[in-house]
Amino acid sequence: MEQTLMLETQPVQRQPKDYKSDLEPIWCPGCGDYGVLNALFKAMSQLNMDPDKTVLVSGIGCSSRLPGFVVTYGFHGVHGRVLPVATGIKLANPELTVIGVGGDGDGYSIGMEHFPHACRRNIDITYIVMNNQIYGLTKGQTSPTSSPMFVTKTTPFGNVEGTLNPLQIAIVSGATFVARGYSSMPNQLARIIAEAIKHPGFALVDVFSPCVTFNKVQTFDYYKGRVYEIPETHDPTDKFAALQLAEQEDRFPIGILYRVERPTLDEQVAVIKQRAHTENPSVEQLFRRYQ
Ligand code: SF4
Repeated sequence: MEQTLMLETQPVQRQPKDYKSDLEPIWCPGCGDYGVLNALFKAMSQLNMDPDKTVLVSGIGCSSRLPGFVVTYGFHGVHGRVLPVATGIKLANPELTVIGVGGDGDGYSIGMEHFPHACRRNIDITYIVMNNQIYGLTKGQTSPTSSPMFVTKTTPFGNVEGTLNPLQIAIVSGATFVARGYSSMPNQLARIIAEAIKHPGFALVDVFSPCVTFNKVQTFDYYKGRVYEIPETHDPTDKFAALQLAEQEDRFPIGILYRVERPTLDEQVAVIKQRAHTENPSVEQLFRRYQ
């Protein structure tokens, strides 16, 4: 009897397959997003995450379909609004683990006005961006991370705009965890995602996730030989070294570029709430305080 009770109190170790929903992904065969989804399953299993205490938030795009394929709570929102929705959920219930997912078009174009602010606020959420350097769902237009002279339907003679560097933007905007993954390295990506989820604060994981249908330049063959693991000698608390790694354009470092700790937005809001509760000022007192 005693032994039975002990067995019943052991926590259940969930396997990657336990996080898979009944919905089958409808991405094109070979799409990089499959690798990201599998890495997420592995990371959730490594952390033995409780699906009932986890929320996935997405915007619009191929990769934003991801919450439907996972047995957590999910919020498939409007275009570019992953971060404000995720921020609201985390502030409303700080006990939840909140993970934003989406693509480069969703996050770095229409959602760009939210990105640096989530970084500077250091809200405790993880943001996984499946960066395929193109708009896939709308059938192939140039995105902010497309390379120069990239030919698409919107740039038939080549892209004449510069390329946005999300890693550097995150670092200089105040993000406390900045990493890059590659969908073709799922074990390493799973480790990065697990570290990002564990990190207290805003964690960006930008993932090279090739669009095999519309991007014929940044393909799996293109990345072969160009990606490499960040050496163990790299100090992730060194902001300048992290910026230099993020600057590289010919070869692409994979791993954690930057990681530091400072108070999170949700921690600070909790302190302010407690203070307001203790002091319990009247509306009139508050009004006078800010006159
Ligand atoms: Fe993936 Fe591209 Fe197909 Fe979208 S269009 S599912 S990004 S391969």
